[in-house]
Amino acid sequence: MPLSSLGKTAFDEPIHRIDTQKKIVALTFDDGPDPTYTPLILETLHKNGVPATFFVLGSQVDKYPSILQWMRKAGHEIGNHGYEHHDLNKLTEQQVYDEIKRTERAVLQKAGVFTQYYRPPGGVITHDVRNAVQSSGYDMIYWSVDPRDWSLKRTASVIINSVKQNVTPGDIVLFHDGGLNQKQTLAALQQLITDLRSQGYKFVTISQLLSEASN
Ligand SMILES: [Zn+2]
Repeated sequence: MPLSSLGKTAFDEPIHRIDTQKKIVALTFDDGPDPTYTPLILETLHKNGVPATFFVLGSQVDKYPSILQWMRKAGHEIGNHGYEHHDLNKLTEQQVYDEIKRTERAVLQKAGVFTQYYRPPGGVITHDVRNAVQSSGYDMIYWSVDPRDWSLKRTASVIINSVKQNVTPGDIVLFHDGGLNQKQTLAALQQLITDLRSQGYKFVTISQLLSEASN
């Protein structure tokens, strides 16, 4: 079902992007906070006045609460990526629900904010995942542009070109601030922001993007 046909308030299907004429794009970062790369990504975003959405892992939040607080203070949106990066194919509905709620509590405790968007690790959506997300009251956020920045084979220029060639208005771009290859993600970010801006793109959080969908 295309997003444009969905109701105003409830999103029952995973959200990949929105239909809009406006040149807006949401940058998202998964798997952090990471003690080395998240601060550097935050600096680049700050320097450029770009808001982003971070889908954090609760286990990382408990280890690096001050980075989460920095994200929050800088005005970024915080999404929920579960507590550990489990293979969701192996979890029951209750276990997925517990992962979401444990992370929700960690983020609330450390940064004083309620998460409302969930991105499943690995993009795995089983029947149990769907039910758990629904009963937790979250919207499930996917992505529409994936430069596969986690792959060690991807250089910064490959990441940049992959995004530039695929991005359209209303897209959600998937990056990682935690994981294996964040050095290349960081190296790509400044150029990508500059290039997309010169194409007329404006950067928004997931909330801002979704508010455009209901207009
Ligand atoms: Zn992930």
